[in-house]
Amino acid sequence: MQTKKKDIRALTKDQLRDFFVSQGDKAFRGNQVYEWLWGKAAYSFEEMTNISKETRQMLEDNFVINHIKVDQMQRSSDGTIKNAVRLHDDLIVESVLIPTDTRTTACVSSQVGCSLDCKFCATAKLKRMRNLNPDEIYDQVVAIDNESRLYFDRPLSNIVFMGMGEPLMNYNNVLAAIEKITSPEGLGMSPRRITVSTSGVPKMIKKMADTEVKFKLAVSLHSAIDEVRTSIMPFNATFPLADLREALQYWYSKTKSRITYEYVVWRGVNDKPKDAEALVQFCKFAPSKVNIIEYNPIGDEMFHQADSAALDMYREILERNGITVTVRRSRGKDIDAACGQLANKS
Ligand code: SF4
Repeated sequence: MQTKKKDIRALTKDQLRDFFVSQGDKAFRGNQVYEWLWGKAAYSFEEMTNISKETRQMLEDNFVINHIKVDQMQRSSDGTIKNAVRLHDDLIVESVLIPTDTRTTACVSSQVGCSLDCKFCATAKLKRMRNLNPDEIYDQVVAIDNESRLYFDRPLSNIVFMGMGEPLMNYNNVLAAIEKITSPEGLGMSPRRITVSTSGVPKMIKKMADTEVKFKLAVSLHSAIDEVRTSIMPFNATFPLADLREALQYWYSKTKSRITYEYVVWRGVNDKPKDAEALVQFCKFAPSKVNIIEYNPIGDEMFHQADSAALDMYREILERNGITVTVRRSRGKDIDAACGQLANKS
């Protein structure tokens, strides 16, 4: 009976070193292979040219490299690129490259589907199939970095965990991927250029704060009134705003890192002055800024972007209360690559 080969990238560097020692080789060989796997993102053992042919064959006999494959790449008229990414078990996730004049940002997925059920989100309709492994998250970033160099002549500058899935429901793997992305042996990116965006899981926000992570935190808030938030993000009934607020205060006390609130204004849902006033009160608990994001329809009739008067009203009330606010145009709408639209339709 043939034994199933192990995913070599599930091993830590120490485990790789131990493996080579157990084979009668030098521990240093583990460092070399690790560098190929992560720093050079090798797709095959064959590429590892400073490793002997026999050793490469031995690796081939024992391990696989479960690389992702970009199945389809779509380019938007505004330059945004969406990748449909095939995983080793043939499941598909999506990731997006968003170029601006000054930066290129990768929006990456952390789960296949999502266990949460935000009513406005296309991914929610897929349900959660599984968590992504650290290497599958890392590979999405490498693929987008390559595309950024190829099409925009510059390396990737920022990463947001805002694709498919709730990153804090895949906490260990997301942190392990970030560790690789920021490590000098990986991509060597600054953690300050990485933002983890959560719908707000209080216990995990506190855990992140205790870990003293250096990346930034964004929260998809969308309403600071429990009743309204629960109607559009039903898990808010389990994790109400008071718990979220307390966790965010804890986050700030530990990290001193300002929180970004992602916020969509929908007609008839959260477009009244009382909604904006509630947001102001919520923002007062810890230093924060608000990103008002344009809504991208997902093919149902439930949600509609609020008119510009409602956005002006929000901006005026927030600024009057000293809160920084930006109103962001959505990117990649024509290829379903915008926030909340990722659902493997391609
Ligand atoms: S908005 Fe985020 S957390 Fe909510 S269902 Fe979609 S992917 Fe999941």
